Amino acid sequence: MVTDVDADFTKRLPKIELHAHLTGSITPQCLHEIWTQRKLSEPDLALEDPLRVLSKDQRWNIVTFFPVFSQYIYELCSTPASILYSTNAVLQDFKDDGVVYLELRTTPRSSASISKDSYVASILDCIRDFPERAAMPTYLILSIDRRNTAAQAMETVDLAIKYRSRGVVGVELCGDPSKGDVSTFREAFGKAESHDLKIALHFAEISSQGLELELNTLLSYHPDRLGHVIHVPEFIKQEIIGRGIGVELCVSCNVQAQMIEGGVEDHHFGSWKDSSCPIALCTDDVGIFGSTLSNEYLLVAKSFDLKAMDLIRLYERSIEMIFSGEKEKGRLREILVGQEKNLTPASS
Ligand SMILES: [Zn+2]
Repeated sequence: MVTDVDADFTKRLPKIELHAHLTGSITPQCLHEIWTQRKLSEPDLALEDPLRVLSKDQRWNIVTFFPVFSQYIYELCSTPASILYSTNAVLQDFKDDGVVYLELRTTPRSSASISKDSYVASILDCIRDFPERAAMPTYLILSIDRRNTAAQAMETVDLAIKYRSRGVVGVELCGDPSKGDVSTFREAFGKAESHDLKIALHFAEISSQGLELELNTLLSYHPDRLGHVIHVPEFIKQEIIGRGIGVELCVSCNVQAQMIEGGVEDHHFGSWKDSSCPIALCTDDVGIFGSTLSNEYLLVAKSFDLKAMDLIRLYERSIEMIFSGEKEKGRLREILVGQEKNLTPASS
């Protein structure tokens, strides 16, 4: 069986992006433009050209990957101007790829020129002012980094509560999975839940000692969605399915960062696609891995013999996972109505 879809089809297909880190979604070219601008006004800027740091020849793995964010991109995009410029570019890139609904996630951070509070407010301003917002409603999820203290995590939850009315829909846990003790964040996620914020968690990215205990702790935070779900024991998988938790699958990220063995065809998308769970294909860090959401749909179509109708069903399945509520879900279902002609595969 050969798939009947091509790159043109997956670009036309409406798509929902639910697991995209703002910083990791900035293209190397955009980072290069920011670097060039900053070099002009700060000749002593001690950062290498992003086109060299993020070269296509770079082979990522779970060890080399995280310092690029926490040390390099954060440092480069630390000024209000660079935050605005990069956020706008990321929104435009998702829109140009045919994304019709976006939830971006970011860790509130401060620098010499911006506080955590102003950082969040600036990004929400960007989203509000994005000219094509009506065609791609965008919401924000605030990230707690696994290296955070309990107090820092609580500060993030408080910011999420403060900016809820401006489009913050939830909080999430991210960062280097080999770092930190997730039980640190019990109080913070408890507060988020009591304020009806949605909860997403990076889950089972690496196989480690004590993983089962960690996964059980994370499940006790009542997550609405889980990201990656790679090293999941069968009984925990059944628990996820039983609870109907949404699963965010980041295929190219997992393959390129060697978080799974083998290629796309070996990805656990293959086993989750036939489960009853809501699932969504997501890019995670398109700026690093260079695979757009359209391309993710194309890759799974080719590797798992999915037809156009299967991809449309996949889109519909991800609608159930969005954090912003029933009104948006209705809009996303409506998008398909009248699109039959537009979504006819090229080969039929
Ligand atoms: Zn992620």
